[in-house]
Amino acid sequence: MPIEQPISPVDIAEAIRRILQSHIRMLDGRCRGCYVDYSRLVPHPCIPFDWATSVQARDRTAAFLGVVTPGAAPAQSETGPKRLSA
Ligand SMILES: [Zn+2]
Repeated sequence: MPIEQPISPVDIAEAIRRILQSHIRMLDGRCRGCYVDYSRLVPHPCIPFDWATSVQARDRTAAFLGVVTPGAAPAQSETGPKRLSA
């Protein structure tokens, strides 16, 4: 029985990037990625798109607050949260 390896944050970030690139809204309001990958006509935003945007939002919020979450993508900078310009 194979031992499952933990999914690395880089793999999750790559999965999010691919989902957000392919699961886009077609002219009829349905998801292109779900049609191409799964032959399903579903309204956009679809479940993979919702998952990707929610994980991305969680990681960005955690990075802004300086919190490390399990499975978070590597931080863009080591200087802490960015300051909003006035
Ligand atoms: Zn989709």
